[in-house]
Amino acid sequence: MNQGSDIVDRIKALMADGGIVPSPANYEFWHRYVTRADAQLVEAVDTVRRNAGHVSARSMDLIRRELYGRHLDDTVVKLLDQTQAQLKRMASYFLQTEGDTRTYTEALRDGQATLAGAHDPEMQRALLAEMVNATAAMIEKTERLETELTVSVDEIAKLRQDLEIERSESRTDTLTGLPNRKAFNAYLEAQAARALADRKPLCLVFGDIDHFKRFNDTWGHRLGDEVLRLVAQSLEQMCHGTGYAARYGGEEFVVVLPGKALAAAEDIAEQFRDFVGSRTVRTRQSSREIDSITLSLGIAQLRPDEPLDQLIERADAALYRAKELGRNRVCTEAALKDAA
Ligand code: GH3
Ligand code: MG
Ligand code: MG
Repeated sequence: MNQGSDIVDRIKALMADGGIVPSPANYEFWHRYVTRADAQLVEAVDTVRRNAGHVSARSMDLIRRELYGRHLDDTVVKLLDQTQAQLKRMASYFLQTEGDTRTYTEALRDGQATLAGAHDPEMQRALLAEMVNATAAMIEKTERLETELTVSVDEIAKLRQDLEIERSESRTDTLTGLPNRKAFNAYLEAQAARALADRKPLCLVFGDIDHFKRFNDTWGHRLGDEVLRLVAQSLEQMCHGTGYAARYGGEEFVVVLPGKALAAAEDIAEQFRDFVGSRTVRTRQSSREIDSITLSLGIAQLRPDEPLDQLIERADAALYRAKELGRNRVCTEAALKDAA
């Protein structure tokens, strides 16, 4: 048995052991293992095999995500697999038609040549009939191909749409529609690099709804959700054109203000606080006004050469200071020095 088919057999056996479906991405994973192309992957797979005897689809996904999956999640991998399979199918239709067209052209050319030399009307009629048949067969094949291609194109359009949805969903917070923390991290990283390169300031504002647990306990989670939407909408509306608002998690929001130094960011944060505080929340049934919502905010300005974690920590510490000082207020990182 040659080496190539030995590898394929081992891959097949390992995938069968774990009940893993033979998709291109899965095959690639096991190919890496069998050919020992990636030491980390080999180690991870060996560990699982030692403990469990085989690697299930779930374990494989976990290993894959751990090693390569920082940017691609399962759904995207699946979509890519499907796209690849579609392209392969299309390529095979093309190759097949190319062959069919060649056969057809040859049949016509032969037919023509023989026809030119044939004097017997019977023979001429038979040859013509053959050529007509070949043409009809070719038309039928072309029509079939056209249908197949339309289906493929539709399927690819659908895959593309799924991929778009997947991409935007993985970056959007479903409750508020704001960018989520993942999107915020990517945005902050890009903007911070830009600010440093252009020698421009950049500020980060952390906002947290005051006593939100109490609000939920009093008015219910559903109204709490509406408040989150209201705050999100307010922030987005207010920083339109000047900043980028995202939901950091729970009842915490974050706004990136590129080009703003601490003093300007403080003014903007005061406006956020004012605006959110001025909006009224009413119950649906009675339209009765209920507690007004307040925000505490903390601000930090990016320093050259600092890791972004530190910027985030300072903004968070400033927010914590605002809470300590009585809530419904804005604190900048300057207040941290005063407190120290
Ligand atoms: P503080 O002023 O110190 O921030 O007090 P707090 O009550 O706002 O803070 P705490 O961290 O104690 O509670 C946060 C609350 O936010 C608890 C949780 O139920 C609520 N919360 C987090 N995410 C959601 C959500 O998606 N919907 C709703 N309705 N509530 C949420
Ligand atoms: Mg909080
Ligand atoms: Mg809170």
